[in-house]
Amino acid sequence: MLLPFKHVLGAAGTFLWRRLSWAARSELRARVPTRGRGERNRGLEDFSARLAAGPTLQHFLRNTSPPQETHPQLEEEPEPYLTSSILEEARRKVYLETYGCQMNVNDTEIAWAILRKSGYLRTHHSTTDCRFSWLPREKAEQAIWNRLRHLTALKSKRLRSQAPLRIGILGCMAERLREEILHKEKLVDIVAGPDAYRDLPRLLAVAETGQQAANVLLSLDETYADVLPVQTSPDATSAFVSIMRGCDNMCSYCIVPFTRGRERSRPMASILREVKLLSDQGVKEVTLLGQNVNSFRDTSEVQFRSAAAPGLSRGFSTIYKAKEGGLRFAHLLDQASRVDPEMRIRFTSPHPKDFPDEVLQLIRERHNICKQLHLPAQSGSSRILEAMRRGYTREAYLELIQHVRDSIPGVSLSSDFIAGFCGETEDDHQQTVSLLRQVRYNVGFLFAYSMRQKTRAYHRLQDDVPAEVKRRRLEELISVFREEATRANGAMVGRSQLVLVEGPSKRSAAELCGRNDGNIRVIFPDTEMEDGTGSGAVVRAQPGDYVLVKVTSASSQTLKGVLLRRTTLRESAAHR
Ligand code: SF4
Repeated sequence: MLLPFKHVLGAAGTFLWRRLSWAARSELRARVPTRGRGERNRGLEDFSARLAAGPTLQHFLRNTSPPQETHPQLEEEPEPYLTSSILEEARRKVYLETYGCQMNVNDTEIAWAILRKSGYLRTHHSTTDCRFSWLPREKAEQAIWNRLRHLTALKSKRLRSQAPLRIGILGCMAERLREEILHKEKLVDIVAGPDAYRDLPRLLAVAETGQQAANVLLSLDETYADVLPVQTSPDATSAFVSIMRGCDNMCSYCIVPFTRGRERSRPMASILREVKLLSDQGVKEVTLLGQNVNSFRDTSEVQFRSAAAPGLSRGFSTIYKAKEGGLRFAHLLDQASRVDPEMRIRFTSPHPKDFPDEVLQLIRERHNICKQLHLPAQSGSSRILEAMRRGYTREAYLELIQHVRDSIPGVSLSSDFIAGFCGETEDDHQQTVSLLRQVRYNVGFLFAYSMRQKTRAYHRLQDDVPAEVKRRRLEELISVFREEATRANGAMVGRSQLVLVEGPSKRSAAELCGRNDGNIRVIFPDTEMEDGTGSGAVVRAQPGDYVLVKVTSASSQTLKGVLLRRTTLRESAAHR
């Protein structure tokens, strides 16, 4: 039955045939008559005529060119002989499960946008046709292996009458573990690295034939600029917008440059278009997302390329040459904050080296850019920072903290720390403890070091801190962080905080929760309050509202308070 199609369609047809699901193939088979030579010839002539009106070789060549930016609302016309009924019948369901960091969450939505455009339906049932998982940090990898074994068992129990279940793994760790996933464990059908999501429809088509399919090639320019992630929760008050991918910093412990590739920035115009779209959808808070957001550099237009490189923070260095040209992060932040004055703008994660004064001034001046900075320190010991290749000393970092606090009064600070890096002595560890005490962060992310293959540390350093010592040091760091964060957050007791309402608190239906400007969770009773936005009426807070809350108590992670009134970003800034 397949033979006539191959004869008629040739190489392009074979390519197309592989892209079709079983239902679409059945439809095409049914449309080519097979009874009687005359009838068959007429059928083939008819089909050839339709084929002549279909896409040309140029069409397929066009699809291999770099993606052109398209308007997000405009759906491409399907190929003429793939009618909507064929596409509709061919629709299969996909179930997406995400593990790990926010970049993985954002990648999930990019992949889903691509699959949706290819006719897939998303389901929240795990017994669906295709399942994709994103692999996380090492700590969670064992859970993923167990999950994959469970899914493989599910796949083997699938009835013959049902479409076969296909299992895929996407993301940066899929790239790192592809050999093990595909060949040793043989648990998945599809492996796609972080730059291969556009290839998912083809990979799925290959998997339909019963073969394993993989694409883990890293790209120098893929930013998915034209793929707008789909807002999956229509009531969401906040969203993440990816502005860049990859990283060039090569910190010695980090796998990101190897799994996510070289640093590249998304064109600013497409970022601003997405921020505007989110604003139109009612989203009240956007976080600009990337591995190293403040080294953003848009070189997509020739005229952007002559701009001078901004200086690094004082006392900081990089391992690469200064990159000249391109629209920089300060420009993006300025433009993004102008899209909607009632929309908060945050960003994560920055590198402490890329904080020119103009970025700090902009944060201070613009009422809708949150006064909150993530300044990942990783260690308080200059000796360990050098081994980590972070490009700064303890002293330079502390000087930057002072400069940030002078520039942005009341700024909320967060950081990352690694306990037990290669060669870390008790004295190095105590220096990290003292840095935590000295800076007094509001939010902290603390981990015990675990060595990753491919990294510089893996090749050049010894993972010589015993596991129990790492654990003990981590516990000590967490305890000191909590103590200091409780003090830092305690300074807000008695003061009012501007809170973006997210919805009911998880602990009690009688309480609401939201986040203040410093990104700290705030819990308060769901009571009536005055509408301070002009009407003077008595109202109840809704998700997406800005409300003023007077803080009555604080812990290391949460503030509690009472509602004062509903307000707006601008109005509250005017009374600050
Ligand atoms: S730790 Fe951050 S800055 Fe360093 S290489 Fe990894 S992603 Fe880049």
